[in-house]
Amino acid sequence: MTTKVAIGVPAEHQDPRGLETLSPSRASDFKTCPQLFKFRAIDRLPEPTTVYQARGTTAHLALERFYDLPGEKRDPETLFDLFRQAWTEVRGEDEYRELFETPDDERQWGLESMQLLANYFAIEDPSLIDPFQRELDMTEDLDGIVIRGILDRIDRDSDGRLVITDYKTGKAPPERYALPAFFALKIYALLIRKRTGETPKEVRLLYLNGPTLYRLEVDDKQLDGIDSQLRALWTAIERAMSTNRYPPKPGRLCDWCSFQEICPAFADAEAVA
Ligand code: SF4
Repeated sequence: MTTKVAIGVPAEHQDPRGLETLSPSRASDFKTCPQLFKFRAIDRLPEPTTVYQARGTTAHLALERFYDLPGEKRDPETLFDLFRQAWTEVRGEDEYRELFETPDDERQWGLESMQLLANYFAIEDPSLIDPFQRELDMTEDLDGIVIRGILDRIDRDSDGRLVITDYKTGKAPPERYALPAFFALKIYALLIRKRTGETPKEVRLLYLNGPTLYRLEVDDKQLDGIDSQLRALWTAIERAMSTNRYPPKPGRLCDWCSFQEICPAFADAEAVA
């Protein structure tokens, strides 16, 4: 049975044909914890806005505009200015209006954000980069599973091969825990292959906090594996939706999960205590 529900995409972006859509982030959620997926994608529960999220949104906007400029203008001061301009726009949105208790808190946040952006220049030289695509809207139909997400940046390396980059403003996990973070990026690599017929050479997670760059080479065999995983995942999601069963999978992520207070895994533990 095919369930006609669009997942992980705001209503205004849902596919008008009513096809199933899944974002790489929500696919990753289901893999990590089906209950988390339910809270976010099915129940669409709001999550508290945090200063980290505000920083992420603003930095992404600044970096996107940074690459509108010619290479010789891509210096730290310009990036800081773009961040300030972007924050002037973002802070007017409802969800960010009450974020800071005092102007000093906001100023401190701004200073920390600048430090984070300064780290960017320790990872790569932006004057030498000529992005092939930025903030690319990827919607692809993989034989009935419509995947939709936004990709931060795609470049061509010196050999002309495609490299996918995702910016992260949070703290980089230790390398042994970074592999799951690549799952969503490998889905994007699969979508790029489907769209262009070209297999990307590498996916990169660029953590400004650190700063840290994790790189992973990809090839057709790996992407075929991701394709199979995605199909199996989609079957599991359909099963969960038709039975309304989304088993919680407690783990390290629970410490950062916004839904711990209402999560059945923790409610059961409290009942036993
Ligand atoms: S608290 Fe843990 S088990 Fe519960 S939804 Fe969040 S990640 Fe899943």
